[in-house]
Amino acid sequence: MSTNKRAYNFNAGPSALPLEVLEKAQQELVNYNGSGMSIMEMSHRSKDYDEVHNNAINRLKKLLSIPDNYEILFLQGGASLQFSMIPMNFLTKDKTASYILTGSWSEKALKEATLFGNAVVASSTKDNEYRNIPSIEDIQFNASDAYVHLTSNNTIYGTQWKEFPNTGDVPLIADMSSDILSRPIDVNQFGIIYAGAQKNLGPSGVTVVIIRKDLIEQANSEIPTMLKYKTHADKNSLYNTPPTFGVYMLGEVLNWVENQGGLETIQKRNEEKAKYIYDVIDESNGFYKGHAEPNSRSLMNITFRLADEELEKQFLADAKAAGFVGLNGHRSVGGCRASTYNAVPIEACIALRDFMYEFQKKHQ
Ligand SMILES: *Cc1c(COP(=O)(O)O)cnc(C)c1O
Repeated sequence: MSTNKRAYNFNAGPSALPLEVLEKAQQELVNYNGSGMSIMEMSHRSKDYDEVHNNAINRLKKLLSIPDNYEILFLQGGASLQFSMIPMNFLTKDKTASYILTGSWSEKALKEATLFGNAVVASSTKDNEYRNIPSIEDIQFNASDAYVHLTSNNTIYGTQWKEFPNTGDVPLIADMSSDILSRPIDVNQFGIIYAGAQKNLGPSGVTVVIIRKDLIEQANSEIPTMLKYKTHADKNSLYNTPPTFGVYMLGEVLNWVENQGGLETIQKRNEEKAKYIYDVIDESNGFYKGHAEPNSRSLMNITFRLADEELEKQFLADAKAAGFVGLNGHRSVGGCRASTYNAVPIEACIALRDFMYEFQKKHQ
């Protein structure tokens, strides 16, 4: 493959980044802004880095219309460390937190919480093989709960919340790792939003946390310094060395999203992209079987199966030979999955649609 030929990249994460962003990073790699060095080689206390850091914060704030009573943090440890940090900061032995289970990532989040306090299931769609998002009326929680936790997009099963429960005074916490910035959201509905960067925001290594300031003040203080939200909030995420290159890339991705026309435009495009592929599934007379129930379908991860594992193997092998990357389902569930994050171009989705049509014609 020549260096400028781009793959049809449907990886689930780390995943596609906008070509323009990669090219700009390449241009600036060895000499950032006339400094004679890479962003990676300069102090995180330097003026150049400071600008990169604060630009990323301000761009995110603008794109998501994040109100002033929220703090934006750039942490490390992935979304997985947030599974622990959240209960460490907000759940104690005498308190209860409610978890809505819609897939493997929410199960993992719940498991960590049980180490710190009483963590209970507010609703679960496991009995339905996580094919759907629960209806909002079925969610059980108490006004005394420390928080309610959900996963806004289920990367592995391919389901996504369309609207969120109103939890009143109980903070709603959302793992948005695989759909943040894919559509507009109302940040005010949430106490905390967190996301590992490597799906829709940039390279792995940065974790974005958007947290209401009053929660930071209420958090448990008897925990290690690095695991307190307050430590990072008080120092603008510069308490220790942040993942500087990751933050730089995040800033460039945010700039790209802005240049695309913002989140409304991005959402429309994501709907168009996903529709190409869901339409092939729906019009295939059962040749392709979608995993998610239609009203719970994700715009980011499209999961489907073929008649049997033999045919799936053939599909994946042929797809690979045709230049499609990352169509294998998660190792825990098998099948096929096309991840159509923000940076996946429309052309890649059209190419996949055409490939799926042709494959069906040949094999049905
Ligand atoms: C990928 C993913 C995670 C895990 O993220 P890490 O950054 O690898 O810890 C957690 N939650 C969701 C919804 C994900 O898609």
